[in-house]
Amino acid sequence: MGKGEGPAIGIDLGTTYSCVGVWQHDRVEIIANDQGNRTTPSYVAFTDTERLIGDAAKNQVAMNPTNTVFDAKRLIGRRVSDPSVQSDMKLWPFKVVAGPAEKPMIVVKYKGEEKQFAAEEISSMVLTKMREIAEAFLGNTIKNAVVTVPAYFNDSQRQATKDAGAIAGLNVLRIINEPTAAAIAYGLDKKASSTGEKNVLIFDLGGGTFDVSLLTIEEGIFEVKATAGDTHLGGEDFDNRMVNHFVQEFKRKHKKDMTGNPRALRRLRTACERAKRTLSSTAQTTIEIDSLFEGIDFYTTITRARFEELNMDLFRKCMEPVEKCLRDAKMDKSTVHDVVLVGGSTRIPKVQQLLQDFFNGKELCKSINPDEAVAYGAAVQAAILSGEGNQKMVQEAEKYKAEDEEHKKKVDAKNALENYAYNMRSTIKDEKIASKLGADDKKKVEDSVEETIRWLDGNQLAEAEEFEDKMKELEGICNPIIARMYQGAAPDMTGMSMEEDAPTGGSGAGPKIEEVD
Ligand code: ADP
Ligand code: MG
Repeated sequence: MGKGEGPAIGIDLGTTYSCVGVWQHDRVEIIANDQGNRTTPSYVAFTDTERLIGDAAKNQVAMNPTNTVFDAKRLIGRRVSDPSVQSDMKLWPFKVVAGPAEKPMIVVKYKGEEKQFAAEEISSMVLTKMREIAEAFLGNTIKNAVVTVPAYFNDSQRQATKDAGAIAGLNVLRIINEPTAAAIAYGLDKKASSTGEKNVLIFDLGGGTFDVSLLTIEEGIFEVKATAGDTHLGGEDFDNRMVNHFVQEFKRKHKKDMTGNPRALRRLRTACERAKRTLSSTAQTTIEIDSLFEGIDFYTTITRARFEELNMDLFRKCMEPVEKCLRDAKMDKSTVHDVVLVGGSTRIPKVQQLLQDFFNGKELCKSINPDEAVAYGAAVQAAILSGEGNQKMVQEAEKYKAEDEEHKKKVDAKNALENYAYNMRSTIKDEKIASKLGADDKKKVEDSVEETIRWLDGNQLAEAEEFEDKMKELEGICNPIIARMYQGAAPDMTGMSMEEDAPTGGSGAGPKIEEVD
């Protein structure tokens, strides 16, 4: 493959975020943009001097709302008279007018002049950005791409997406359905050939849209049996709930209402989206915005539990389209072989839990980052269509995935043990705690902790199971002693910040001090 003819790429052209992947070194590489982000906002902004795409466009939206365009996917291939376009138009800060043949045209001011762009032109700018991200990474020009669209897109929407690719100078090898791409990412088409027909439910909760699709796969052929969803439900709604929560809190604390200040709200919203992402992996996070409104700094915290409470009705609402999709496909949930998580918002643990409960505890397919799964599958498809891989490709990908998981398990187990041992060591060094322990107990804990730390030093490359065994051994010695001590503890012990001191390793790793009253 010479210069000028780089590999084919897979692009997930999303409503709020886009993602690009490529098949390289026998696996899919999801490519980070110049900001280091693996997904890129599907935003294009026009200013007096330049055109911005992606993060740069989204970052300046508060300053330039009428000339910052997003949601082009909601317009592409539709007529301006389409009821959904008519209702969306009311919410957009940018202007949309009817062009020739009822084509919606987006009106912006660019370099001092009024300009009109069709949705496919805006989408082509996003595609160009994704292509450039890939080119920067591969050091080669890219020509060929597979681009994904929602399963419910009609011919006109598909054609317009293809046109967007052509405007971006891309040769669109194929347009494939997003849920199909996600199933390909997990190699479900390969597994299906060995087990006969397979039913797969794809649960895609993104930034502003929610799509549920039921696919059947037989001998590598995908069929969409049913789709359901909500065109206006997604991560932005969860952000908004948090924004409202903090607006109220600000009102209570400072007796000031910031609702009339778009810039303050935008800054708060950006911080809320970040906090929401953090809460998918931690139990609590902070918001720190200097001079948010009328010179007042806003520093506060939010827990995952509070975030869940703020959104619980929305999370529950996500289960309705799942039921509808199954009903429409005339399928019982027990006949679904695989449930696949797609869309950044499925990183939210509560959403995963509700879905898993709905499927009676079934393991969900989530080992591939959900906001990357569609681009991942598109990249696999691109490689197959351009003859770069060899089909072993998907098997290899599976193998690497399994190896990665195995490695992660090992690292997690080691970290859990290390955390526990070192936390126990500092706990026992704490005068207040040590004084409540008998000398025997203290020595027992000390000896076993030191022994474990020595063992860790000499066995950094041990297997996950060995770390887990050591953990059980150490817990078996320390937990009863610590628990006994807290049961007999004076009330002032509860004031100590046990949550911080508690080991934070894997589940069940800590002495669960905070549960003992
Ligand atoms: P699209 O809907 O455009 O296809 P994505 O699937 O990438 O886009 O979803 C984007 C949404 O996912 C955004 O609302 C973003 O805030 C949310 N998101 C991304 N990462 C996380 C996370 N770790 N926890 C919760 N939400 C997340
Ligand atoms: Mg998406």
